[in-house]
Order: sequence, then C-alpha cells, then structure tokens
Amino acid sequence: MQFEQFGLNQELLKAIQALKYENVLPVQEKVIPQLLNRKDVLVQSKTGSGKTASYAIPEIEKIDWLINSPQVLVLTPTRELAKQVQNDFRTLGSYKRINAVALLGKQPIKSQINELKQKVHVVSGTIGRVLDHIERGTLDLSEIKTCIIDEADECLNLGFKEDLDKILNYLPDCTRAMFSATMPQSILELAKSYLKDPVIIKIKENQPYNENITPYYIRVEKENKLNVLFDLIHYHLPKRAIIFCNFRETVENVFDAFLDGGYSCCMIHGGLTQDERLENMRDFKKGMFRFLIASDVAARGIDIANISHIYNYDCPTTAEGFIHRIGRSGRVDNEGEAYTLVLPTQMKYLDLIQDEMDCRFIEVEDIVPKEMDPILSTSEPIVLKEEVLESQKNKLYLKAGKNKKLRAGDIVGAFTQIEGVEPTDIGIIEILDYQSYVEILNNKGDLVLKGMKGHKIKNKDILVEKAK
Ligand code: AMP
Repeated sequence: MQFEQFGLNQELLKAIQALKYENVLPVQEKVIPQLLNRKDVLVQSKTGSGKTASYAIPEIEKIDWLINSPQVLVLTPTRELAKQVQNDFRTLGSYKRINAVALLGKQPIKSQINELKQKVHVVSGTIGRVLDHIERGTLDLSEIKTCIIDEADECLNLGFKEDLDKILNYLPDCTRAMFSATMPQSILELAKSYLKDPVIIKIKENQPYNENITPYYIRVEKENKLNVLFDLIHYHLPKRAIIFCNFRETVENVFDAFLDGGYSCCMIHGGLTQDERLENMRDFKKGMFRFLIASDVAARGIDIANISHIYNYDCPTTAEGFIHRIGRSGRVDNEGEAYTLVLPTQMKYLDLIQDEMDCRFIEVEDIVPKEMDPILSTSEPIVLKEEVLESQKNKLYLKAGKNKKLRAGDIVGAFTQIEGVEPTDIGIIEILDYQSYVEILNNKGDLVLKGMKGHKIKNKDILVEKAK
C-alpha cells in the first residue's frame, strides 16, 4: 500500500517522501484511516513497527494550521520518547510548518512556558510535567482534538495512573488513542475507562515481540559475566550493539570495563542528567559510539536504526521487559540477535519469558572469540534521515517582534514577494517581544536574506539576518 492512497495533503506526502518511507507499514495501514476518521483506537504494536508515524501522519493531516493553541497532545512515560515524538512531528510536519513542543520533566519550566506562548500545534510531554503545566494554566487544552497515550503499559508500570486520570479529566471531548507494546488486563481496563468504543488494533496477534530477532541465552556464573560478554562481542564483532543491565550501578561497572578495554562506548541510565542522556543517545544514534550500555530507561520506544545485536548482561525479569529491550534491534525490516546472560538463579525468569512469549530461546554453549579492534567505531558516521530535512532549514532573525506589532502574515507576505520564495518555503515563525525567528525550508535561507536587502516589512525597515 502507498501513502498516496490515504488522500493526504501534498505537504505531508513531500515529507514522507523525503524520509524515504516507501511502503505503508502494517500498523500504519490500520491506524491511519481510523485516526483520520477521528475514531478512538487501542493499538498493540511492537516497538520499531512505525507506530509513531501511524499517529503523527493522520494528526498532521488534520491539524488546522491557523489555530494557535495545541491541537494534539501526546503523553509519554519517558523524556526520551517525548523528545523523539516531538522530532517525528517536526520532521513529518516540516512542509506544513507544524510546530511541536516537548514538555520534559527535569528541564527548565520557564523556557517551556515561553515556547507555549508561541503558535504550537502539537505538544508531546512526560505525564508529570504536562500535568504541572495544565495546573499552572500555562498549557491551553481548549483546542485539543486528539490525545495519544504512548507506551501506555509503561505509564502504568511507572505509577502514572493517577496523573493520567487528572489530565484526561481536564481534556475537552476529543479523539483518544492508546498505544501499548503489551496488552495486560490493566491496559484493557484503562482503555475501558479512557476510550469511547475504541477500534482495537493488534499487529501480529500472539506475537507482540519482534520476530525478526532470534533470541539466544547463555548460562553464566556471577564471577565470569564480564568475560562471557566480551567473548560474545568478540565472536560477533557487532558494528553497533546495546548492552542492557538491570541496575544503574551495573551500567556504570560495565561501562567502566568497556572504557578500560578501550572500547568505543557510551552509557545511559536514569541517574544521568537529562542533557547527558539526550546527548549520549544522539551520539550513539549518529554512530559515534559502537556500544551503548543502558538500563531500561533506554529500552522504551527509542528508535535506533541498525542495531544488529542486543546483549542482556542481566536477564530481564519479565517478558514485557525483554520485549522492550529487543525492540531496539531488528527495527522495521532488519534482522537481529538478542543474547541473554542467565545466572542459575535466574533460569525461572527465562522460563517465564519463554512461556509468555510462546517461543524457545536457543542455548549458546561454545563460543570462540575472534580478534577485534576495540576502539573501532561504526564504519561510517550515520546521517539521520531527519537530519537531511533539518540541514535544508535555515533560521533567520528579525530585529522586531510584538513591539512593532509584527504578525506571521506580515513576514510571509514580505518574504513571498521575493522571486523563487513560496509560502511552502517558510517554516515555523516565532514572534517574541522584541525579535522574531523564522525557519526557511528547502535551502532558501540565503535567497530570502538577499531578497530582503533594502526591502521593508509592514512598511518598516527591519533588520533580517541569519540567527546565531
Ligand atoms: P517507531 O515504531 O515509531 O519507533 O518507528 C520505527 C522506525 O520506523 C523509525 O525509524 C521510523 O522513522 C521508521 N518508519 C516509520 N514509518 C516507516 C515507513 N513507512 N517506512 C520505513 N520506515 C518507517
């Protein structure tokens, strides 16, 4: 199936094309028409299945650009996921000039309040911080048309039920969608109370785990876990791998051992600052490191392409935990392998995971490590698809804002007087008290700068230059 068949607008199709999404993925085929029709949905889909685009695409299609207040609210359990959702809305919404704001906990609230004063179409945020903004009166919900709860099972696991109840009570009547990797009873009950006659969508029934991944396990003793891990990676020589640990301290210990061995690695766990987590994640995504050592914080909905190997240094204790970890590899069409180190006392967890997933892990007994250059990073730096779109954007600074009663229409009017500049080349416009910022798309920043030399906006001489 092709995206054109949904009857989407040209701006959205252009972004989809730029991202090289050639085929509609199964979750998208089922979810997009329902959300376009404003039906409530409950969706079970594995991480990496393309679920974010399955809601971002119909929501961007429906957004009324002229409305200034947020129209879509996405609630997530983690800051990383909220940030990623914001990025996906921004890239898919590039040509429609969709402004998405991320409201992340543990980040300065003041700058978020300022961002919310601009024209904002989409808000993605962690539950606690979104509630905080609602209760402070800084997040206007009056125009919300759709609310999406992503990774609903994790929202419950992290104890956000009460806050979710409060947020949903504040919302006006709107379409609601819940996405969850797993569908335990607690999620079905939540859906009953939050959703109105929902369409239930299950992608690959009975197989919520990523079947592109072959699961292996290896019996280990506590004292030789690190040796076994190094043997495994020297046997596989993975280009990019994630090593999962159950505890923050273990992440740090394994990270230290990798550093001592001279391996190209970074780590992420809940004890790092938000900035450190985002930076490490971004660097790893871009191929600057070969190994990411992570606690389960990183296992949620985070999209990292081309991971061929996952190592569970610690055995997860639930099938859900395992599914989320292996969601990292084998994304979309890639194949991958997951190796789980299991202590004798943890065999019960392995049995439980296998039973719940209805599959058998393959036991690995003998491995012959090969030589590997430890500091070797990935072969080439990875250019993220969204970066291609981003690289064609230039931000301009205007030395006038609300003080000169400047409005977005004045700027679009003036810029489109320039030959070769179309309204679709103008991205997000931010008008502040004494200055404004305008995103110019399609590499036309210099054209606008040149064209505006000696020209007025709203009959006023206004300095326009590249934003620093
Ligand atoms: P998600 O399940 O939202 O984490 O998405 C997983 C990955 O699939 C992301 O890298 C998306 O950019 C990518 N993706 C989403 N839709 C498509 C599509 N139709 N074709 C190819 N890749 C896609």
